[in-house]
Amino acid sequence: MININTAPVPPLRLALDLAANGWHVFPLNPRDKRPLANCLDCRDNPTCSTGDYRGCPCLPDGQWCHGVRAATTNPDHITTWWRRVPGAVPAIATGPSRLILIDLDTHTDQPPPDPATQLLPGIRLTPDQVPGGLDTVRDGADVLRLLAHLRGRPHPWPAGPEHQPVSVVTPSSGRHLWYRAPDLPDGVRLRQALGELGWQIDIKAAWSYGIAPGATTPAGTYTIRAGTPVSPGQMPDWLTREILRVIQPPPRPPAPPPTPAPPSQQQRAAAYLTTVIERGTTELATLTDGRKTALSALAFKAGGLLTWAGLNYDHIHHQLVNAGIAAGLDERAADRIVHRALTNGLARPLPEPRSRAAEHTR
Ligand SMILES: [Zn+2]
Ligand SMILES: [Zn+2]
Repeated sequence: MININTAPVPPLRLALDLAANGWHVFPLNPRDKRPLANCLDCRDNPTCSTGDYRGCPCLPDGQWCHGVRAATTNPDHITTWWRRVPGAVPAIATGPSRLILIDLDTHTDQPPPDPATQLLPGIRLTPDQVPGGLDTVRDGADVLRLLAHLRGRPHPWPAGPEHQPVSVVTPSSGRHLWYRAPDLPDGVRLRQALGELGWQIDIKAAWSYGIAPGATTPAGTYTIRAGTPVSPGQMPDWLTREILRVIQPPPRPPAPPPTPAPPSQQQRAAAYLTTVIERGTTELATLTDGRKTALSALAFKAGGLLTWAGLNYDHIHHQLVNAGIAAGLDERAADRIVHRALTNGLARPLPEPRSRAAEHTR
């Protein structure tokens, strides 16, 4: 039985309780909250070491290799893992558990430069739409409340049993809302979306994961405040519609240029942005300090030029994440940085560069 508002539960007990309710569990290292390392065989295996888990013998064998891909409800595997690493932190794989996690952050040190367009990407806010004014929106929970208000909904995390999520307060005073994933039309797939629905709001779905409700890390306990993991509420329809709005189709430039460039000019524009990214990638690979800042700046610039250059968002996103990985950043960090900066850059298109020569002389 899962208790609410009681003393922290030992990790193995918590993992088994959640698994018994269909939550797919795997272990994180308590020091860095990242998946426990792959076994030595996987580290030496050329396929496994690129992150390709598909032929890996460890997964059918019930090992914890390949992080979220190892997530299971099998109590024998879970018991074996936590006997080996009793202090591991249980994490939940969202997709296999048929869950969706809304992660509301409280990193308030850097408010977005233009709150009217960046608090809710794709929605241009006017001051009269925001009770108390834009300055009162300080964290992800405020942004989700604002979205609910705009859509005429009184509260983003309803109290009725049908839609009540498992609501968790994180050690940094953020909030995790675990909903049962909605049934979607054929061909529509959920995906992770970092900062795309709103500022300080991450959507974790499919092969993404979150720290288990009730788990304790060195930073503190993820305390369940409402709802129960026995039966998480179904995501309300209005919120599902908002999530589908941002994940499908993939993010697009907010407005097309008023007059499309003729082909030759378009090709030059595309070549210009490609050069900017190639050069940035080379520079990034030489850095040992400030790589995250440099990647963010490069992605922001690419975002600002993307509409003009007419290149595909996903393609550029992929190139930039690879640039980050090539410079030694881990994939999740690179993905997060690129998503945020590209989205911000898209919302603030840069003026058309005067000529390629001007860029060459910088
Ligand atoms: Zn392995
Ligand atoms: Zn492997």
